[in-house]
Amino acid sequence: AIAGEIQAQDVDDLKVHMPLCMEHLHDELRREKHTRHGGRMQYGLFLKGIGLSLEQALIFWQTAFEKQTPDQFNKNYAYNIRHSYGMEGKRTDYTPYSCKSIIMNNAPGSGDHHGCPFRHFSAPNMRAQLAAHQVDEFDTEDIMRLVSNKHYQVACTRYYEVTRAKMLGLSGAMKGGGLSGGEEMVASQELIEHPNQFFEQSYLLMKN
Ligand code: SF4
Repeated sequence: AIAGEIQAQDVDDLKVHMPLCMEHLHDELRREKHTRHGGRMQYGLFLKGIGLSLEQALIFWQTAFEKQTPDQFNKNYAYNIRHSYGMEGKRTDYTPYSCKSIIMNNAPGSGDHHGCPFRHFSAPNMRAQLAAHQVDEFDTEDIMRLVSNKHYQVACTRYYEVTRAKMLGLSGAMKGGGLSGGEEMVASQELIEHPNQFFEQSYLLMKN
């Protein structure tokens, strides 16, 4: 994992590097103190991919599900977590889901928080998300156009460029003629194809 071994208590601080799909799952987990199965799989495997060990994953989820007693947690959730780390059942060592898989498979129902926001959020909800991340009007329209043309991963890539440029204090100049100077510097060039790719690129970018 790019960031080395992650401790359960580091996850909140690493949220700045997460794509919207994972940030949304994280926020809803903190709000509801619970995540349904689809979300636990999507977010749990992502966290595994960024370097959360099985031991730390058990601490992370048990701490997060604060309404569960240790007994309830062990009975209801620990098996599945160990399973996703290949320690139970067929011992398959599951890998984090790609964007394509999140976009195409297992659409979220009401009360679910997994999925891809660019694909599964309503347009007003998507706009609210962009506004909450200080994406300006120009970039918002650009991203919403990509979303309505079903270019979800391209929209996510634009979101990456715009928000990372802002985090580096590089955004602003030259709107209307494509990317601004700052955005060009962080333009990933590559399409975002995996939530862990988004995370790793962002983590390395901010570290340097
Ligand atoms: Fe997550 Fe991929 Fe959707 Fe981006 S395009 S929000 S990384 S699923």
